[in-house]
Amino acid sequence: MAKEEPLNFIEHIIEDDLKGNYSPSDLRFRFPPEPNGYLHIGHASSICLNFGLGETYNAPVNLRFDDTNPAKEEQEFVDAIKRDISWLGFEWAEERYASDYFQQLYDWAVQLIKDGKAYVDSQTSILIAEQKGTPNEPGVESPFRNRPVVESLALFEQMKNGEEGEGSHVLRAKIDMASGNMLMRDPVMYRVLHKHHHRTGTDWKIFPMYDWTHGESDYIEQVSHSLCTLEFLPHRELYDWFLDQVYDASKLRPKQREFARRNLSHTVVSKRKLLKLVEEGVVSGWDDPRMPTISGLRRRGYTPQSIRNFAESIGVGKRENIIDVSHLEFNVREDLNKRAPRVMTVLDPLKVVITNYPEDKEEWLVAENNPEDVSAGDREVPFSRELYIEKEDFREEANRKFFRLKLGKEVRLKNAYIIQADSVEKDADGNVTTVYCTYDEESKSGSGTEASQRKVKGTLHWVSAKHALPVEVRLYDRLFTEPAPDGHKEKDFMEFINPNSLEVITAYAEPSLASLNVEDTVQFQRLGYFTVDKDSSEAKKVFNRTVPLRDSWAKLDKTN
Ligand code: ATP
Ligand code: MG
Repeated sequence: MAKEEPLNFIEHIIEDDLKGNYSPSDLRFRFPPEPNGYLHIGHASSICLNFGLGETYNAPVNLRFDDTNPAKEEQEFVDAIKRDISWLGFEWAEERYASDYFQQLYDWAVQLIKDGKAYVDSQTSILIAEQKGTPNEPGVESPFRNRPVVESLALFEQMKNGEEGEGSHVLRAKIDMASGNMLMRDPVMYRVLHKHHHRTGTDWKIFPMYDWTHGESDYIEQVSHSLCTLEFLPHRELYDWFLDQVYDASKLRPKQREFARRNLSHTVVSKRKLLKLVEEGVVSGWDDPRMPTISGLRRRGYTPQSIRNFAESIGVGKRENIIDVSHLEFNVREDLNKRAPRVMTVLDPLKVVITNYPEDKEEWLVAENNPEDVSAGDREVPFSRELYIEKEDFREEANRKFFRLKLGKEVRLKNAYIIQADSVEKDADGNVTTVYCTYDEESKSGSGTEASQRKVKGTLHWVSAKHALPVEVRLYDRLFTEPAPDGHKEKDFMEFINPNSLEVITAYAEPSLASLNVEDTVQFQRLGYFTVDKDSSEAKKVFNRTVPLRDSWAKLDKTN
């Protein structure tokens, strides 16, 4: 059963437990999202960690919705979370909800009151907060702390029955108002909320707090290792205190262990902040391709494998850090390089006329779909007298390092012929509108002739003008100009939004693109990876640029 080295520190903990009194069949994990938004790339790390442990140790992993705050939770988010985890390729053992345990949690809470370990506090939340004290000063005990058990029991029941208004009372654990750990100073276990819950409807008027819910849910499900992010480290003492109150020694006792949150540069990974981007219309929705959500990345053209590889490569850590987004982009490039068929599309067209090519002639030339994958086969692309090339691929004059088309020089057109630029036509402003070229009929790619094997420095992609398929292309850039938009004390993250994160253009594609379906991904040769967006219609295909072929920001960062 033991996993081979190298182990991460969580796996070391598990291996040590397996050497101690845990048996392999005791192992059980969970991924516990709150359904108050869509999953993001930070969650992907937690998903890959928990489900990865499940795969390594052949142990069940539950999907548990931490749904204790009816004000913010919705079925839409539950559905999206399930869709995203499945898309990543993981299977949960059981779908559970903290709300499944509301009755059990309530019964336990009643027992705590009876045991003198919990009481109803009828002060305002403001007063309760004031009495908490500071880390260096003990808190003040509530005047209700020693209220008779029967009184607390009666009030708690009235709270449950909806007879008490929101904010009128809370149930608090009676622990230690002088504890060095502020969380142990009589934490709130329940509050009154007269809100509709996405699953329990209006059945419950009191809702348990995170700390009271989480460990007890782990205990109910017999989760062996409850892994959460580092900010919960101080909660561990409370997690254990709550477990002590209900723990039966014949059962497995869950343990909470903490790992570092993963942050990504040039974005925010917090559902609350992502919600703000959605609500303020900065993006078109949770699955806007600029969002760091799983569904946004999916729509952008990321593959499940690329996200899993990314999570795997950054691993599990004990210290928080920011991972540069270029690392995520590297992973998707690497994966798509293997999978994505190559096609030719011109984003910024310049017309080329081949003066010695017959006007009424057209040829269908053989093009390899993927040099990285022979099994991907070939396709045919049409060639004719008038073509489009990329504007930036032509200059009237240029130095020796410019290996693209310039007057008097030759280049190869990918999968086609060698051409030479002879003259240009310009508009009134002096911009080149047409380049007149001649082609070498003997130089056809793959024809085996001597001319076809002649070495020329540059190879350009192109599209036959007559056959070109106009498509909409959405070019995305980073959503924030700053690497750490939420790392500033005086400035709100919203102040760093990149105003140029989306550019929409019409491009000209080879006709084979007409047969692609939503979510198909291709490489536009020399440009990058692009995927078909769901906004595509019969009349017009829409492509999202997943990532350019090269990291243009790396250059920028260096020159800055
Ligand atoms: P958010 O602030 O985005 O709402 P959260 O931690 O409140 O994040 P949950 O739905 O409670 O979101 O998270 C589910 C699980 O995912 C938790 O175990 C949490 O610790 C983990 N998680 C959330 N964000 C990250 C992150 N950036 N890196 C690693 N794990 C994360
Ligand atoms: Mg949260």
